Amino acid sequence: MALFPLYPGEHMISAVLRRAMLSCYPSRKQYLTDMAFTCKFPKAGSACADTFGFLQEVYACENETFANWIKHTPASLWRISEDDRTLLKSVKSGRCSNVKNGVLGFSQLWHFCPRCIKDDKQTYGVSYWHESHQVHSVTHCYIHGAPLLIAPKMRNIDQLLLPHQVFQLGDYTSAFSHPALRDWDDFVLSIHEKVKKNSELGCQLRKQVEQVLTLPDEGRTNRNLAICDAMLKDFEASVHPVILKHLFHYYGKETPTRRFSIMSAVMLSTDKRTVMHPVFLLIMLYWLQNRSIANALPTAA
Ligand SMILES: [Zn+2]
Repeated sequence: MALFPLYPGEHMISAVLRRAMLSCYPSRKQYLTDMAFTCKFPKAGSACADTFGFLQEVYACENETFANWIKHTPASLWRISEDDRTLLKSVKSGRCSNVKNGVLGFSQLWHFCPRCIKDDKQTYGVSYWHESHQVHSVTHCYIHGAPLLIAPKMRNIDQLLLPHQVFQLGDYTSAFSHPALRDWDDFVLSIHEKVKKNSELGCQLRKQVEQVLTLPDEGRTNRNLAICDAMLKDFEASVHPVILKHLFHYYGKETPTRRFSIMSAVMLSTDKRTVMHPVFLLIMLYWLQNRSIANALPTAA
């Protein structure tokens, strides 16, 4: 990234932000507008069409744009949902932006680690937003294992600060910490790192899920719904309730009105307008691969 040199593990928006702060522009918004960065509320972990569009302005070559976008944002996780070719199309058309967000329970705001702030300031003289802190549903630092802190919701791009500035203002909340969530983080981050390096792996992982969760016939037949329901019971018994509550709003509700079925959401989805959020497939992989681990963890308080 010649235009925006990045520190190790830095989110690309963080590098743009640092550059904006060094500029003589009266407002960050004006600088970013002039740089063709049109995103009003830069998203930490989502596959954002505006961010991608900005990178396209920076890099004339589409392959280079895509490679940098995958490397310097948590976007690689979306490789589990779609192949690179279709993912690119989806991002450009905005299909990735509104994927079943209503059911997701975890914070999608900007996350940071106070110990990373200290280390980064010592090493580089400045703090920056780490890409791996923004990976969907992760609550602990990939370096220190400490619970992440969450920056407040931005009202406009001028309010996006660097982590040490948010920390100094004291305007943050702390991510919920639990051994089960540490285990989940390790799982998600290891997949994130692997799919970042290997573009084919996402597709292989998705096929693994599909192989296990194949229904005998298509559609929402009574037979298929019964299979989904039986699998859901096993799933809910195997995955730690703290993880389920963290990932999906439904499990955090005191009096849910109707049962949320992750199984039918994954197995019977006919929605072609939006892309399946990677968290849906990640939790399936976690369930299928780590059933014994989830059972061995301490019970939630
Ligand atoms: Zn850290």
